[in-house]
Amino acid sequence: MTNTPKHPTHYNTPEEALKDLFGYDTFRPGQKPIIDSILSGRDTFAVMPTGAGKSLCYQIPAMLLSGITIVISPLISLMQDQVKALNDAGVSAAFINSALSESAFFETVSRAKQGIYKLIYVAPERLVTEGFLNLAKEVPISMITVDEAHCISQWGQDFRPSYTKIVEFVNLLEKRPIISAFTATATETVREDIVCTLGLDNPYTMVTGFDRENLFFQVDKPKSKEQYIVDYIAKHPDESGIIYCATRKNVDSVYELLKEKGVSVAKYHAGMSAADRKQMQEDFVFDYTSIVVATNAFGMGIDKSNVRFVIHYNMPQSMENYYQEAGRAGRDGLDSKCILLFSPQDIVINRFLLEHKEMADIDPADRETIKERDAKRLQVMERYCYTTECLRNYILKYFGENPSKPCEDCGNCLREFETLDMTEEAKKIINCVFEAKGRYGKTIIIDTVVGAKTARLEEIGATGYKSYGVLASSNKKLLRRLLEQMVMEGYLVVGDYQVIKLGDISALKASGTKVLVKITDEDKLPEKASKPKKKAKGTESLTSAGFQLFHKLRALRLEIAREEKMPPYIIFSDKTLIDMAAKVPSNKEEMMNVSGVGENKFAKYGERFLSVIKETVH
Ligand code: ADP
Ligand code: MG
Ligand code: ZN
Repeated sequence: MTNTPKHPTHYNTPEEALKDLFGYDTFRPGQKPIIDSILSGRDTFAVMPTGAGKSLCYQIPAMLLSGITIVISPLISLMQDQVKALNDAGVSAAFINSALSESAFFETVSRAKQGIYKLIYVAPERLVTEGFLNLAKEVPISMITVDEAHCISQWGQDFRPSYTKIVEFVNLLEKRPIISAFTATATETVREDIVCTLGLDNPYTMVTGFDRENLFFQVDKPKSKEQYIVDYIAKHPDESGIIYCATRKNVDSVYELLKEKGVSVAKYHAGMSAADRKQMQEDFVFDYTSIVVATNAFGMGIDKSNVRFVIHYNMPQSMENYYQEAGRAGRDGLDSKCILLFSPQDIVINRFLLEHKEMADIDPADRETIKERDAKRLQVMERYCYTTECLRNYILKYFGENPSKPCEDCGNCLREFETLDMTEEAKKIINCVFEAKGRYGKTIIIDTVVGAKTARLEEIGATGYKSYGVLASSNKKLLRRLLEQMVMEGYLVVGDYQVIKLGDISALKASGTKVLVKITDEDKLPEKASKPKKKAKGTESLTSAGFQLFHKLRALRLEIAREEKMPPYIIFSDKTLIDMAAKVPSNKEEMMNVSGVGENKFAKYGERFLSVIKETVH
């Protein structure tokens, strides 16, 4: 069901729809050719990684095509979220699935017949029911879109028998619409299966690279995984994250541990009641809880864009699983971490799980093949945990790509290398933090000690500090490492708004205490010679005032989300709020320049955000 169909706005070009509905200025790689192909009437098949932006590739053509687009999607929650997001952007869309009451179903059908909807999301098992077939005969269908198309392949991990109904449905239609299919699954067999089973007709096929630039991959082998997780969360407060465990037992124990520590946490596994699972999932999606601890049963229906980290408490069973689960981080394109915590025990657990895998409905002749395949996949994962090569390249190679050089931006590329004694530098940083009276963040502290010539330092008077320029010859990157180390050892603490304050420095006063920093070759390179950093991504790009504003904007977003009973990220993504905090728009025109603010979003929320900006800035 859905709310007010405000639309029949007509768009002449995909770009117009992109800007007006979604507030974006440019297409991402692959999007435009896919949209053009669909608009030219050709079947289209797109294989793009999670977070690449597949939804737009059928939603925009749906707005430009004359009739209705039917979207087939496997999960109710996913459908509902997408429809919510579309309605919020001003598109009239609806869904039909088992969550609809009978009366709501008839209401939706009758509105569809009046031509009110441009998109209807349908659960596959609903397609060949009498009610839906009647509707399909009465309305003009321009396109059928199969999202998560790998669900149609028996070779995929997520095979859904109901997906085969799609073919039956298409065959029952008088006129064959355009068919488009989307998936993130990379393997060749599954791809071929999709094209063949869906009967795509000479499809335009777009396979984009599988690299997710904004994801940082890392494998750690900590002594205590529990402690690792507790520390990680303490160091990343307010961040939304998923912790995957191999077993329900592990989920329960990690969940209890975090709860005990006062972390805002939910859990999810197949042993819980459907109602509990639904509640936990919603709490997470709506940002009532920031962390969810789950088995791999969790996530298919999660489009949450601001997941900042995915930690695997155990090694998963295959790279396919790992990349899909880890890929739920950073859909909004902001830097996010994917950390795998490995211990040899994980191999034992996984072997056990595979041996006891449910095979009752698998042909005995196939069982051996499947067992062999599973064992091979497990080995690939095990090697991932032990390799010293670039982790990103290891993954990409597995998916058939041919990266030319190490990424210089993963746990292995930045691996620890040598230990440096930085006690003297540490003392100078402490002096600087003392002079700064705990009011400023990392960047200011480091800029001050190296004696940077910036307007910001002038403005706050830091150029007059005794510690200004005392470490002028030091490498900034090393100093940042040092600062992190000092936070870890408690000499410094990070306060609200990321300001750096003095911690307990008594130990440092005793002679003989050293501050040791582990570094890599990369760290020793001067800043300029290192890899040019991608565009500033995330809150680090903000000034401290910008960061404060970002917090206010986030609070407003949460308030609106609660009023409208929507997941916060559907109102505006983190990325949009960061851009807003950086651009500080003061009127509609400036606001419309913020990435992610379209005409409709502005009409709904623009003024409220503008007034918070005014209050905060003045
Ligand atoms: P996928 O289905 O491929 O996993 P989504 O369609 O859910 O990815 O999109 C992921 C995120 O990327 C969403 O937050 C979406 O708004 C954003 N996005 C998509 N296209 C663009 C674009 N051209 N510019 C900026 N952000 C985009
Ligand atoms: Mg998707
Ligand atoms: Zn790398």
